[in-house]
Amino acid sequence: MAVILCALPAALAGCKASGNDSPGAASQPPFTSAVASAPSQTADDAPPPEKTGGFDGKRAFAHVAKQVSFGPRPSGSQALAHLQDYLQSELKSYGCSVETDSFGADTPVGRLSMKNILVKIPGDNPGIILLGTHYDTLLMDNFVGADDAGSSTAVMLELARLLCPQKGKYAVGIAFFDGEEAMKQWSATDSRYGSRQMAARLSTSGDIKKIRAFLLADIVGGRTAQFLRESSSTPALVDLIWNTSAKLGYSAIFLNESTSAQDDHDSFLKRGVSSVDVIGDFVNNGYWHTPQDSLDKISPKTLAITGHVFLESVKQLQSK
Ligand SMILES: [Zn+2]
Repeated sequence: MAVILCALPAALAGCKASGNDSPGAASQPPFTSAVASAPSQTADDAPPPEKTGGFDGKRAFAHVAKQVSFGPRPSGSQALAHLQDYLQSELKSYGCSVETDSFGADTPVGRLSMKNILVKIPGDNPGIILLGTHYDTLLMDNFVGADDAGSSTAVMLELARLLCPQKGKYAVGIAFFDGEEAMKQWSATDSRYGSRQMAARLSTSGDIKKIRAFLLADIVGGRTAQFLRESSSTPALVDLIWNTSAKLGYSAIFLNESTSAQDDHDSFLKRGVSSVDVIGDFVNNGYWHTPQDSLDKISPKTLAITGHVFLESVKQLQSK
C-alpha cells in the first residue's frame, strides 16, 4: 500500500491521505524512551505559563511524551485503549465532566471498536464553542505520532485543565476523536470515523445547531512548525485565529499563505458548522506520516503558542 501524498503539488498537497505503508527496516525502535530521547530544549523551551494565558507548555510536552510511551496507537489497538484510560483519568483529575461514545466502525481492515471522548463545560446561554483533536495514530509500523496526533491531543488536555473550572457565556466542548486516520487509503468513507460519528449524533440530538464555532487542532507541536490558512475552513474563523495570533506576536509562525487539508473539520463543515482547522504545514515538515514523527520533533514552545492562541480565541468567541 503506497503512501498517497496528495498527487497534486503544493497548494493542494494538504490532503491527509496515506496508506499503511510499512517502511521496512525501521530506522528507529517503535518507541524510543520518551523522556530520554528528548533533545536539550533551549530555543524550544516553553515560556512561563503566565506569558501564555496560563497554558503550560511543559505540561503539554509531558502529555506528548506519555502518549509516545504507549507506542503506535492506531484505532482498535491496546495502546490506544491505554491512551483512552489516560485521557479519561487526566480529565477527571481536572474536574471535567466527560462523556464517552463507544461505537463500531466498518473499515477496510474490518470492524473496529472506537471511542470518542467529549468534555462538556456548561455555559450561561445557549450555544456551544467546540474544540477538537483526533487522538488515534496512523496504522503504520513504528509510527508513534508525536506530532500527529500527540501534539494536538496534549494541547486539548492542557486546555481542558484550564477551561473545565471556568464557566463562560457559552458552553465549551472539547472533543477527542478516534479514527481520524484512514486504515488503507484516505477517502470519504475511510477516514474521520470519530468526527463523522460525533457530528451525526449531534445532528440527531439537534445540538449541532447550537455550535457557534468548531476549532480543530492537528499537527501543532513541531519545533519548526508553521501554520498556513486552511482554505476549506470558514474564513471568519480563520481570520479570528490569525488576528489573535498576530495580536499575541506569533506572526512568524502563523503565516498568511494558504494550504488545503482534509481533516476532522470536514465532518462539521458538511453539516453547516463554522469550522477552522489549525494545522501545521505537515506537507513540508519532513516527517509527516513517517516513523520520524517522534518526540524529538516536538517543541514545548510551539505547544504553548498553539495553546495560547486557542485560549485567546475562545475568549474572543465567548465575548460575542
Ligand atoms: Zn495523520
